Amino acid sequence: MNHRARKRFGQNFLHDPIVIRKIVQAIDPQPDDHLVEIGPGQAALTIPLLRAVGRMDAIEIDRDLIPIVQERCAPYGELSLHNVDALKFDFAALKTDERSLRLVGNLPYNISTPILFHLLESRRVITDMHFMLQKEVVERMAAAPGSRTYGRLSVMLQAWCEVTRLFDIEPGAFKPAPKVDSSIVRLVPRRDETVTIADPERFAALVRAAFAQRRKTLRNNLKGLVEASRIEALGIDPGCRAETLGVADFKRLAAI
Ligand code: SAM
Repeated sequence: MNHRARKRFGQNFLHDPIVIRKIVQAIDPQPDDHLVEIGPGQAALTIPLLRAVGRMDAIEIDRDLIPIVQERCAPYGELSLHNVDALKFDFAALKTDERSLRLVGNLPYNISTPILFHLLESRRVITDMHFMLQKEVVERMAAAPGSRTYGRLSVMLQAWCEVTRLFDIEPGAFKPAPKVDSSIVRLVPRRDETVTIADPERFAALVRAAFAQRRKTLRNNLKGLVEASRIEALGIDPGCRAETLGVADFKRLAAI
């Protein structure tokens, strides 16, 4: 069966068996897991994952890939393939028993940030997520305060998840080869009490505003949201920039 890679769906298919094995090892699928793959493509990861768990779900937007994935996966287990846009899909609806979901995917680069934000909404039914993304995006996701790449994405993801950058993958592992390097990242939604954010919408609005203009001070970026005197009362200098604050500081700011 022939299928030409579509740019608009961010299609770069994995073909290097060593890299595929390394990714599957990092995911470490167990027979009892409820796995959900986003964008199975031509089933490079789906086949070894399905072999390990026996049945799983996958979400693929490209209608032309559906029969290819179905045919390739049939010998290895029971695949529930959903031909929908992952950005509009309600992942929480896939949880039908006591098992939480384990999400995996070599994500299309053009939708990586919106999909991460969308998945955060379902974090309560997710055990963990392993994604391949553009290396530069993974650096931003895992960045520490004070670093050049630390920003809204870092704070929003680290507030709700433990973020670990695992390893990098070179363009040659894909067909067609992308122009950028990729990395594998693991996200584990936090279960501990310290994560509690009383008003998630206010938290999100505050983080967005704080980083709206990176070179401006907190006092300026948070005008209308938090008074400078209240920032100061928390022991945070209103004259500093958002990139110097830790995730805990943003939680404290959102709580006043
Ligand atoms: N998993 C395969 C692999 O590793 O070879 C394919 C990876 S390819 C980078 C991304 C896959 O996501 C493609 O199959 C593409 O059609 C699919 N995709 C793109 N946008 C999507 C969306 N919004 N919802 C679901 N799948 C999407």
